[in-house]
This record gives sequence, C-alpha cells and structure tokens, in this order.
Amino acid sequence: MPLPLPVSLSPSKVSSFTDCALAFRFSAIDRLPEPPSVAATRGTLVHAALERLFCLDAPARTLPAALDCLTAAAADLREHPEFTGLDLDPEAEATFVAEARTLVERYFRLEDPTAVTPIGIELKLEIELGGVRLRGIIDRLELDGDGELVVTDYKTGRAPGERQEQQRLAGVAFYSLLCERLFGRRPARVQLLYLADPVAIISTPTDRSTRGVERKLAAVWTAVERACEREDFRPNPSRLCDWCGFKAYCPSFGGDIALADAHRQQLELQLV
Ligand code: SF4
Repeated sequence: MPLPLPVSLSPSKVSSFTDCALAFRFSAIDRLPEPPSVAATRGTLVHAALERLFCLDAPARTLPAALDCLTAAAADLREHPEFTGLDLDPEAEATFVAEARTLVERYFRLEDPTAVTPIGIELKLEIELGGVRLRGIIDRLELDGDGELVVTDYKTGRAPGERQEQQRLAGVAFYSLLCERLFGRRPARVQLLYLADPVAIISTPTDRSTRGVERKLAAVWTAVERACEREDFRPNPSRLCDWCGFKAYCPSFGGDIALADAHRQQLELQLV
C-alpha cells in the first residue's frame, strides 16, 4: 500500500531526504518522535536568546543584554521536554549553559546587532509551488541600508567545508524563494551566521539560483512521490548515522521498520 505523502517540504526536510531517504520517511511520514540531543537543544536556546535580543530597541542590543536574554531563555527552556529529556546532571547543565553563552558571545564578533533593522524574527512563511506546500521559518528578516531584504539564518554547529557549503546555502535559497513569492521582492542577500567559528557565509540570490532551487524542489518532490508510491525509502548509512535518533527502526542498524509502520498507523487512527 502506498505511503501517505508528507504535508509539506521545508529546508530541513529537503536536506533530510537528500542525506537519507529512510530518515526522511521516519520523520516526515511516520512522524516518529526524535529524542532530544544536546546540540539541537543548545541551538534552540541560543536562537531563543537572539530572538529576545532583537525584540529590544536597537541601542539596547548589547552583550550584557544578550546574556540576560540567554538567562531568561534558559529559565523558559528548563521545564520543556526538549531540555528535561536530556536528563543532564548539574555539572553537564552548567557546561550546556556555558557553551550557549560562548555562542552568544561569539555572535557579537560577526556583526553589531545595534546596526540591524529587523522586520521579522522567527518568521513563519508558507507558499504553494507546483502543487507542493513549502514552509520555512526564517530566523531573521531585515532591511539593509538601501532598504533591501536580507535573510539571516543562525547556525550553532561548525561551518561546513567547501563542498557542503553549497548544500547549506540551498537552505537559505529556499527562504529567499519564499520571500520573493510572498513579498514580490528577491532578497539582496542571504547569510548563514556560524556562531561557533564564528564565520558568516553570504550569497546573493540571482535568477539562476532561484531557478536552481525551484528545479531542485520539484525533483525532490517527484522523488518523494515515487518513493511513497513504491514504499521505497532506502537507508543511506553515513557519518550522519552517529546523530540519527531512528536507529531502533533502521534495518542498517538491526532496527525494525515495522515499528515505524505501527506508529504511523496508530497516529492515523487517532486522526479518524
Ligand atoms: S541510522 Fe543512518 S541509515 Fe538509518 S535512518 Fe538514520 S541516517 Fe538513515
């Protein structure tokens, strides 16, 4: 029996499908819960701190204010399952917060937040393109000195090597496409701010890059449709398996894919 199609594509789903079709299926179609990870939760905390920082008036966006934002965001996160699920002891929790603090401090080496003019923070965007629903959340949309749109995405992992750089930029090209369709203007710049290094990777969207992302999205959607029709999502073991939370379901690791089927069918019954 064909598998149901996912309801939408997002940058993370596109990259998940490209990296490992089976992990994509577990996440987007079977909707298996993923156990929280320290790296992902630390990213959530830093994003929340920067979101709070950009809710302040420009002159107030100082490093001490950002660290206050981090403290407040950490207090909010403390009761959340994404944090409690990590089950950190006091020493590990102190390390977790200290690492988040370092990332916030390094952010200030990349740009001066008092000079940024944000017009959207954690902005949820959605369009239909060729029958596919595309969704994304932009960390920050702003205006540059010429009044042009700029898309900014914070990254809390390490900056990619040259080969993976284009793949990462494809994610922000996706956001650029969403902006262009929704606001009728192509962003002048899309930038990835890698806080750990810290380094900024910046690109300028063009007709060519926009057509490229449209073509890629169409190709990924066609491949997803075909895989659903044939119930054929293959594992692609790689270094990424080290961080994959689906090993208990993955045949490449002795897991049982039938458990994923059972989980999805259970969800479908709840929706009837
Ligand atoms: S463990 Fe590896 S091969 Fe299996 S689903 Fe996860 S990423 Fe794919």
